[in-house]
Amino acid sequence: MGVNYLRVSVTDRCNLRCVYCHPLCGCDYLERKEILRLEEIHRIVRLFAKCGVRKVRLTGGEPLVRRNIVHLVRKIAGIKEIEDISLTTNGVLLESAAEELKAAGLHRVNISVDSAERKSFKEITGFDFLPKVTNGIRKAIEARLSPVKINSVLIRGINVSQILPLARMSIHLPVAVRFIEYCPTSKYTRPASDYVPTGEVRGIIENEFGLLSEVASGDTDGPALCSRIKGAAGTIGFISGRSSTFCQSCNRIRLTSDGRIKPCLHSSRYYCIKGPVRGGASDVELLELIRGILCEKHAYTRH
Ligand code: SAM
Repeated sequence: MGVNYLRVSVTDRCNLRCVYCHPLCGCDYLERKEILRLEEIHRIVRLFAKCGVRKVRLTGGEPLVRRNIVHLVRKIAGIKEIEDISLTTNGVLLESAAEELKAAGLHRVNISVDSAERKSFKEITGFDFLPKVTNGIRKAIEARLSPVKINSVLIRGINVSQILPLARMSIHLPVAVRFIEYCPTSKYTRPASDYVPTGEVRGIIENEFGLLSEVASGDTDGPALCSRIKGAAGTIGFISGRSSTFCQSCNRIRLTSDGRIKPCLHSSRYYCIKGPVRGGASDVELLELIRGILCEKHAYTRH
């Protein structure tokens, strides 16, 4: 499968401190000059688009804390090859940004919500912001940033009790609630064994709401398996990064906020593109670098 999906981290900063991602002890932000400027990001995306990328996801850190993010969305929407622009956000700043993002050309949002209850939301994220996030979800639906997806990472000992409240959101709201198996990202976070396997999550939901019916996956579902509680407005998805692997169907590549290209999430291998960009490389030279990286990615995913 060709690589057609670029995930761009626009900042390493975040306005939450989720226990599994960005704990208080591990918070060393990069210096501002290390972070790609918006025009550098736009140039790199434009060159990836010449090499087959058609979908772009903006992420972080928290992308909505990056100043002028709406301008970046508008610039990327102006690249003729790009067909789909999405954003992964914690939703804290979404209420006021949703309409503007939509007008700038953003197609859809994924909102990370690991708890549907205020007290446990605060315990997980460090902040009492669930009401802000709920307003952000409502505004994203109104702004037709659809499909609106809710991403919930489940961690044993932290939010297993939230499986049913989160699943219930899909009954009342036209959203796709997706349960994601936890993967540790640094030595500061929870052990790998704390992930909750998809089979267990599905069992808890079916025990309460009855058997889920399968729903055909859409273009934007990636590795998620989709289903629905009977009569629900929305859907439920499962992303099983631990209990199964997606390497053969992986169509993604990542650009980090400090200008490195990572062909594979599960590998520490990367290529610095910021150096050549700031060193005056021409588009032709950068395209050669990008094509080489994409060839390497194809080699990984062939087996
Ligand atoms: N700040 C944004 C947000 O909260 O959505 C974007 C960045 S966040 C790192 C992107 C997504 O990765 C979120 O859905 C988050 O839940 C997920 N994530 C972060 N750490 C993870 C981990 N260790 N295992 C699985 N998913 C993780």
